[in-house]
Amino acid sequence: MLTLKQYIINADQKHTAIGHFNISNLEGLKAVFTVAQRLRVPIIIGTSEKERAYIGVKQCVALIRSLREEFNYPIFLNADHTYSFQKVKEAVDAGYDAVIFDGAKLSLGDNIRETKKSVEYAKSVNPNIVVEGELGYIGSSSKLLDSMPGDVNVQKAALTRSDEAAQFVKETGVDCLAPAVGNIHGMLKYSKNPEIDIDLVKEIREKTGVPLVLHGGSGIPDYSFKRAILVGISVIHINTELRVAFRNTLENSLVNNPNEIAPYSYMENPIYEMEKIVEDKLKVFTTAG
Ligand SMILES: [Zn+2]
Repeated sequence: MLTLKQYIINADQKHTAIGHFNISNLEGLKAVFTVAQRLRVPIIIGTSEKERAYIGVKQCVALIRSLREEFNYPIFLNADHTYSFQKVKEAVDAGYDAVIFDGAKLSLGDNIRETKKSVEYAKSVNPNIVVEGELGYIGSSSKLLDSMPGDVNVQKAALTRSDEAAQFVKETGVDCLAPAVGNIHGMLKYSKNPEIDIDLVKEIREKTGVPLVLHGGSGIPDYSFKRAILVGISVIHINTELRVAFRNTLENSLVNNPNEIAPYSYMENPIYEMEKIVEDKLKVFTTAG
């Protein structure tokens, strides 16, 4: 089996992307892993600070590692959006395969300094760990939004600048970068999500020389994914769409089966609906061209 870093480099070279799906429970993990196995593609499981606090940091590592070892399968675990060095250290020490230090709300100088500290620590513990940095703010919640979050600006002038991205990557030593390229975290309830600036993705990929990660993949049309992957996106994050499917299907499942009390029975449909989303996305992400 290759390292996660090598899988990301391969995806970058083949103009495909690895799917990164967040989970909060075993049902989510089951859905993602089942589909990945069926399609035979490497996969990344993401847990935000809250998601991993809910499951347990060490338990997340044990779960993913057990699947990787039992099935000899390239499934990897990422500590998504980590806002402090202390939390980075906790994930690295527990054995995460990848970690994101998210300093998107810091000044460029502070973000570089804090990200570099995380890179140096993570690599000292595990030279194969993948460390991602964030430059540019795209909102912070994977939920259904009534309107654009007030603190997110997707005007061109507010997006990540390619020269700053190049400086950030060079000075921090991150393996990959998540820039702000027009889209947002979460999904707008009453309108389409804003579009990805494809030219900017291309420019940032060229100037930084590292694979790029697209956050906020929920609510983005397939053709935008295709174009973004072609010009430098190698990992794509999906969370909100899975949460919506899980919640809605669970409600129906409970209403339709009022006497069913076995979780493994009434969870079947929610898992199945999440699988359909994972499958649709992975087919788009992992086929070149
Ligand atoms: Zn994200």
